[in-house]
Amino acid sequence: MRELQVVVVVADGLGDRPVPELGMRTPLELADFSPVADVLVKSSVGLWDPIEPGVRPGSDTAHLALFGINPVGNYPGRGPFEALGAGASLQPGDVAFRGNFATVGEGMVVVDRRAGRFIPEARQLVEYLNERLGTIDGVEVRLYYATEHRVAVVFRGENLSDAVSDTDPHVEGVRVLRCVPRSGDPAATRMAEVVNRFTERVHRLLEECPINAERRSKGLPPVNAILLRGAGRMVKYPPITGRQGISLAKAAAISATALVKGVCSILGFEVYTPPGATGDVRSDLMSKAREAVDLYRKGYDLVYVHIKGTDSASHDGNPKLKLEVIERSLKALAYILDRVNLGSTVVAFLGDHTTPVTVRDHTSDPVPVMLYAPGVLPDGFRELNERLARRGSLGRLRNVEFFGVLMDYAGRSEKFGA
Ligand code: ZN
Ligand code: ZN
Repeated sequence: MRELQVVVVVADGLGDRPVPELGMRTPLELADFSPVADVLVKSSVGLWDPIEPGVRPGSDTAHLALFGINPVGNYPGRGPFEALGAGASLQPGDVAFRGNFATVGEGMVVVDRRAGRFIPEARQLVEYLNERLGTIDGVEVRLYYATEHRVAVVFRGENLSDAVSDTDPHVEGVRVLRCVPRSGDPAATRMAEVVNRFTERVHRLLEECPINAERRSKGLPPVNAILLRGAGRMVKYPPITGRQGISLAKAAAISATALVKGVCSILGFEVYTPPGATGDVRSDLMSKAREAVDLYRKGYDLVYVHIKGTDSASHDGNPKLKLEVIERSLKALAYILDRVNLGSTVVAFLGDHTTPVTVRDHTSDPVPVMLYAPGVLPDGFRELNERLARRGSLGRLRNVEFFGVLMDYAGRSEKFGA
C-alpha cells in the first residue's frame, strides 16, 4: 500500500453544548469555515468519544487514546502526568506525586493546606529545595512547580513502588499523615520510608529558609511543608514510531502546553514549540502552522499540531473568545491545507475532548471530527459542528478506533488476517 503523510490538528476542548449567550448555538455552529470549506467538502466527518460515552477525559488520557493507546488499564494516575504538565521529564519506573505547599504548626499539625494559596516565592522555594534535598536512601528527589501552591514531586531510583498512602490529610487541624505501604511488597515499605524522610527533610529545610523569615515578618503564613497525594509509577508506553502493526518512522508534535508536550514526548514524538506559541489564547497559531508545514516538507510521517486556546476559553466560560480561537485555528488549518499535497496526505481536524463553555470543564460529549484523505467518501459538508457531525459517514468512533481509521487511510496499518 502507498503510505501517505498525516497531519492532525487538535483544538483542545473543541466540542460544546448550546450556549444561551449565542442563541442556543455552539461556537462551532457560528464559526466561519470558509477558509477550509474546499477541503472540508471533500472530507468525511463524524464523532469521536475519546474514552467512551460517559467517561470524562483529561487531556492526557484523551491524547493517549488519540495516538492509539487505550488509557483504560494503562494510566498510572494523575501524579506522573501532573509532573509532565509541570515540565518534568519522566522515565518509566519514576514515582510521582501531586503536592501542595502547606503551613504546619507545632507537632506537624496542618494549619493551612495551601499556605495562603498565594505564594509568589513558590518557584524560588522549589529551587531552594532542589538545591538541598539530594538523595534519600539512594533515591533522587526532584520538585517541579505547577501553579499557585501546587508542585509535583518525582522520586527516581531502582525498584520504586507507588503502593503507598498520601501524606495529605485533606483537612486542616490534624497532623501530616505518615506514609504507609499499601502492599506487602518490600519496595512499598522502602518507598513509604523514603516519603516520610522527604516530609521531615522538607520541613526542616523550609523552617531554615530565609524566605519564610521574610513571610513571617510580613504576617504571611510560612510555607513549611509539602503534602503529597496520588502516587503513580510511570509506565512504559510503546512509542508511536516502531509500534507493532503501525508503520510510522518519524513523528513530530507542535505544542506549547507542558502536559501535551510531556505526553507526546513519552510516546516518542519529537516535540517543537515555535516562537510565539504560548499555550494560551494569545498563542501565535500561524507560527505553529508554518512549523507544521516545515516539518511536513522535511518528510515527517505524522505531524501533530496542538492548539490550547479553545480549551482555555472554555474553562473561562467565554463563548465569544472560544469562537475567536476556533476561527484562528481554522485559518491555521487552511494555511496547512494550502501547502500540503492533498493527493498524498491525510489531514484530520478535531478536539481532544469536549469542554462546554456552559460547564467550564471537560465532559464526555463526543467531539466533532473532520477527516480528509484521498479517496475518502465525502460527506459534502462545508461546515463542521456538533449537530452536523452526527450525520457524518465516519459515524461515532471510540477511544483508539480513531487512530486506527487514521492509520488505515494513511496506508500505515497492518492487515488483520490473510
Ligand atoms: Zn484537552
Ligand atoms: Zn481543559
